[in-house]
Parts: sequence; C-alpha cells; structure tokens
Amino acid sequence: MSDHYDVVVIGAGPAGYVAAIRCAQLGLHTACVDDWLDRDGRPVPGGTCLNVGCIPSKALLESSGLYERMRKGNSAQGLHCEGMTLDVPAMMAGKDSIVRDLTGGIGVLFRSAGIDWLPGRGQLQRGNTVQITQQDGSIRKLGAGHVILAPGSTPVALDAAPLRGDVVVDSAGALDWQSVPRRLGIIGAGVIGLELGSVWRRLGADVVLLEAQETFLAMADTQIAGAALKLYRQQGLDIRLGACVLATQAQGDALEVSYRDGQGEHTLDIDRLIVAVGRQPNSEGLADAEADLVLDERGYVHVDEFCTTSLPGVYAIGDAVRGPMLAHKGSAEGVMVAERIAGQNSTLNYDTIASVIYTHPEIAWVGNTEAALQQAGVEYRSGIFPFAANGRARALHAGEGMVKVLADAGTDRVLGVHILGMHASELIGQAVLAMEFGASSEDIARTVFAHPTLSEALHEAALAVGGHALHIARSRQR
Ligand code: FAD
Ligand code: NAD
Repeated sequence: MSDHYDVVVIGAGPAGYVAAIRCAQLGLHTACVDDWLDRDGRPVPGGTCLNVGCIPSKALLESSGLYERMRKGNSAQGLHCEGMTLDVPAMMAGKDSIVRDLTGGIGVLFRSAGIDWLPGRGQLQRGNTVQITQQDGSIRKLGAGHVILAPGSTPVALDAAPLRGDVVVDSAGALDWQSVPRRLGIIGAGVIGLELGSVWRRLGADVVLLEAQETFLAMADTQIAGAALKLYRQQGLDIRLGACVLATQAQGDALEVSYRDGQGEHTLDIDRLIVAVGRQPNSEGLADAEADLVLDERGYVHVDEFCTTSLPGVYAIGDAVRGPMLAHKGSAEGVMVAERIAGQNSTLNYDTIASVIYTHPEIAWVGNTEAALQQAGVEYRSGIFPFAANGRARALHAGEGMVKVLADAGTDRVLGVHILGMHASELIGQAVLAMEFGASSEDIARTVFAHPTLSEALHEAALAVGGHALHIARSRQR
C-alpha cells in the first residue's frame, strides 16, 4: 500500500464512503480511514447511518409496524390473528443481518473501486498529512493531495441522565434491547425520540416522551406538526411538552425521573430510559492543534457552501458541518467535493434536501414552511389535500394526514411541500424533483398521475393552490 494518495477521506459513514467512491470513479487514488468497530471489535464501514442509525432503525420500524398490524388485526378488513408471538432477539438478529449485508456491501464497493480501506483513527496534521493510529496502537502517516473530513456525529449527553448499562441508553443502545421494557421514558421528542418511541410502543411498552420545548417539532410545518401530535397521542405516545428533566435516580431495577413543567415538579417511574436530545459533531482531536483547522463555537468544522475548510486542499462534509444531520445531505456533499477536487464545478442545492420522520403516519417535507415564508415576508398561496379524500389512501386504511403545497403568489413557483401520511417518505421525492426543476404549482397540477395512487394527493394539493382541486368541496379549497 502506498503512503501518498490523491485523496484521503477520514470517516466511512454515508458522507465519507460516498465521497471515496466518487473520487475513485474520477480516477483519484483514494484511501478511506475509519475507526468504527462492531460489537465484536471488528472494523466495519458505514458509520452511524448503517450501524446504529438510519438502517437498523428503519428495520425495527418495519418489523414493529408489521407486528402491531398483525396483533391488532383489522375488523373492517375481516382480519383477525390469533396466537401471535413476539421474539425480540430474533427481530434484533434480523436487523443485525440487514446491517451486516449492507456494511459488507461497502467493503465490496471499495475493493471494486480500488479504494484502500484503512481501519484506525485518523488525525489531520500540517501539510495535508493524515496520521492513523491503528487498532494495535501503531502509527502510520499518509501524505495527501486533498483530505476530506467526514467524522460524523455522536449523541449529546445529558448531565441529569447519565447513561447506565442497558437501563439508561442513547439511540444505539435502544436499537439493541433484547426485551420490551414495560414502562419506557424518552428524553427528547425529536426525530429519534419519535421513531424509537414508535418502535417500542408498537412492541408493547408504555412510552412517555419528555420534551423541553413547548412547541412540538419546531422545524416542521406548524399545521402538520399539530396534526401529527394528535395522531401520535391517539396511538398512545404520551408526549409531554415543556418538560425539563432535573434528575434520574435508580430505584432498584427501575428508575425515577424528576422533571419540571409549567404546572410544577413531577416524578415519572419507568423501567428504561432513552436519551435523545440531539447529536454533536465528532471534531475533537480530528486535527492536530498545529494544523489550525477552524471550528465554529459549537465544534462544527467551519466550511463555505462548497464544503471548503479554512485549510487549502482540506474539505469537510456530513454531520460534522453546518446543515441538517441527514445521511443524504452528507452523501450529496461527498459527491460535490469529489467532483470539485477532480476539477469540476459541482454545486449542491441545499434548498431541496428533504426531511423525513418515519413514524406512522410518516412526516416528510422539502423547502420552506409557512412560518418561514411569513417571517421572510414572502407572499404565497397554499393548497391542501387530505388523504381522507384519496381513494388509494382509503383502500390502504390510511386516510390520516394531508399534502400541503406552498407556491409563490406572484410566480407560482413551488416553495415548499409538506406531507403527513403513509409513504410520505416516498411521495416527497416527487416534490424534490419538481422543486429541483423549478416547477410551478401549475406544472404539477397539469401533470397526469396514475389512479389510484397516493401521488394523486400531491396533484390535488397543487390543484388546490389554484382553488380547483377536484375531490374536495369548493368551500374547503383554501
Ligand atoms: P457518520 O455516519 O457518523 O460516520 C462517521 C464515521 O467516521 C464513523 O464511522 C466514525 O466512527 C468515523 N470517525 C469519526 N472520527 C474519526 C477519526 N478521527 N478517524 C477515523 N474515523 C473517524 N439520517 C437520515 O438521513 N435518515 C434516517 O432515517 C436517519 N435515521 C437515523 C436514526 C438514528 C437512530 C440516528 C442516530 C441517526 C439517523 N440519521 C438518519 C442520521 C444519519 O445517521 C447521519 O446524518 C449520518 O450517518 C451522517 O453521516 P456522516 O458520514 O457524516 O457521519
Ligand atoms: P432532534 O434535534 O431531532 O431532537 C432532540 C429533541 O430533544 C429536541 O426536540 C429538543 O428540543 C429536545 N431536547 C433537547 N434537550 C432536552 C432536554 N434537556 N430535555 C428534554 N428535551 C430536550 O435530535 P435527535 O432526535 O437526537 O436526532 C439527532 C439527529 O439525527 C437529528 O438532527 C436528525 O437530523 C438525525 N436523525 C434523522 C432521522 C431521519 O432522518 N429520519 C432519524 C433519526 C435521527
């Protein structure tokens, strides 16, 4: 193996491994350094997303959703299921095998692209040198024409709730429980709290979420967040807003959580607790002090819109830089940076990066919320279509939720699309494409969608912007 590369990537999560693949495709001699170890101490690529994030959480959401649907049956469909059993260790083993296949797949892609995979902890040093501390403690130094920093993020810790064995855990711990807690507390009703709360509620836990903010899902559209909150509570997620956790105390095998809200101080008795209060960039020790890499006050690597850092030839991407902590955002940055290193003029449109919350129903959005448009003083028109009026949604017994399209009042250009409903994660791709191509709401309204599909709800919401949705009463159009 050589000691000099065109590009050395630090981090093999979705930002780093995708950057490495694109670099290799463009003919750059590339190495990727990563320090992730699986539970048996073996180095594996994939970072948070594949090992303890996107993939295992979606596998458990799918399995737990199926379990709940089968257990409850559906009298309106004449379906009853008796003798259902739940084998949590088998469900976890199934999830682990999906993770193993996918992380193994990255190894295959690396080998086929000629990328050198170097397990160990990387540190950027002066002059674009990367020092690797390998698993056996030995040190290796690589010279690089360009360095891409993709170290990702880790969960924020909470002094009031220190992690303890498998009783007080972060998201990674909650993806590995081998039994269902009877009473589960979750600190933080953000994306992780809602997704993992859904998994364990469906499997039988009583779930209470303690959220510090008074506003539920402040980053989402207010109307969508309000409708979702109502549905989640109906499902049995006990979401308590404005709840500030003061302390956690062991009570034998159980836990007592004390918290304060607008009504005063309270205690909550639970069996297990998930701390899900956000994530922070993995920038500590990433660069030697002499390298002079500029971080911002919250520890993110400082970059411009092209992910260029303060150092020549050094780029940073993914969760460790500004912007949403999302796998597809990091991967897109990886592609942009690789292409810029290869001399291309690639850019990234951050305005069309979609967000998804994989609950039931799902929440997905792209672009501006109504609140953001109002704050910016933008004149807009909105069109809303409820899934209750969509034939396919009714056939799927999924009539909850809606699609909302926001368009500029003057130009009709689509400025935002917000969806609460089944398969919102798939539907939002159509809105992303439309916005990427600068579509107007009329462009979507004049497009013919197959019937019966959930996509027709997007079509109808676009029609509703102009006041002529076909399947809602005229009086309810705006
Ligand atoms: P990471 O995936 O964190 O990878 C960084 C890698 O770099 C890690 O392997 C780390 O060990 C390694 N590393 C760090 N420092 C060094 C160093 N100095 N030397 C060597 N290696 C180093 N996002 C979505 O878009 N969709 C989802 O559905 C979704 N679900 C999620 C569910 C959960 C429970 C969690 C926790 C996150 C989820 N996310 C989701 C967020 C997503 O996982 C992250 O946005 C994504 O993994 C970030 O990619 P990254 O490559 O920047 O960092
Ligand atoms: P988050 O920012 O989505 O939610 C954290 C929540 O915890 C917030 O609502 C916050 O107000 C609350 N909080 C903070 N401190 C608190 C305290 N002391 N007491 C009570 N509540 C408190 O973060 P997360 O859910 O931890 O997820 C981390 C990141 O991972 C997110 O930024 C998200 O982008 C990413 N992620 C994405 C997906 C997805 O795309 N579907 C899934 C999981 C995670």
